[in-house]
Amino acid sequence: MKKIQDDILSYREMCDTESVQTLQRGMNFRLNPLYSVILMSQRSNAPYKDKIYPDGITIEYEGHNISKNAYTHNPKYKDQLEKLPSGKLTQNGLFINAVKKYKNHEKKPELVKVYEKIMSGIWSLKGYFKLDNYKIVNDGNRNVFRFILKLSKTQSPRQGKQKIYLSHTRLIPSKVKKDVWKRDKGKCVLCESKKNLHFDHDLPYSKGGTSLTVKNVKLLCMKHNLEKSSKIK
Ligand SMILES: [Zn+2]
Repeated sequence: MKKIQDDILSYREMCDTESVQTLQRGMNFRLNPLYSVILMSQRSNAPYKDKIYPDGITIEYEGHNISKNAYTHNPKYKDQLEKLPSGKLTQNGLFINAVKKYKNHEKKPELVKVYEKIMSGIWSLKGYFKLDNYKIVNDGNRNVFRFILKLSKTQSPRQGKQKIYLSHTRLIPSKVKKDVWKRDKGKCVLCESKKNLHFDHDLPYSKGGTSLTVKNVKLLCMKHNLEKSSKIK
């Protein structure tokens, strides 16, 4: 049976994979024409309660609050909303709409790509899921939405003419990436920058490099990563 993926990516690599400058929001309905993207976290300090079920293929994902600026009250004590006062759908509302259309047989289930935050600056790609259902749960203070996602059979949606950025560093085992991140303390080994980090091989694949050990992988910022690749050419 299929299992959830666990490809480790730096924040920059995640944004590059999605062809965006930044990913700020947790819920991104139709980030592109083929699928939506959600960012989840099971860390104890996470603002929302997301979890992977023991079956290993189901995710329960909490809906999101509207931005704090939109209201004078702290949205954490208010029910999560499907619509803004203007009538415009929130991200919750867009995902709920997709569930309703699926249940009414109007549309296929929404394809959702899921990333999980592992630690600050480091993410795990869990793969593609289909948006199966949602429920409204009272968390003790207020009502929140919980979305149910099931691992999809489709793990490589057709991209058409869309250009996909497939980082060769995907092939570095997740365990190695986690160890490299800890060893290098989440900083570029050359300038200690914490921004735009990439996992870098000492030898590129094209020159016979292997990624299997922690020794030949290091963290580099975008500037040093680019400088290195131009020297190789
Ligand atoms: Zn650097």
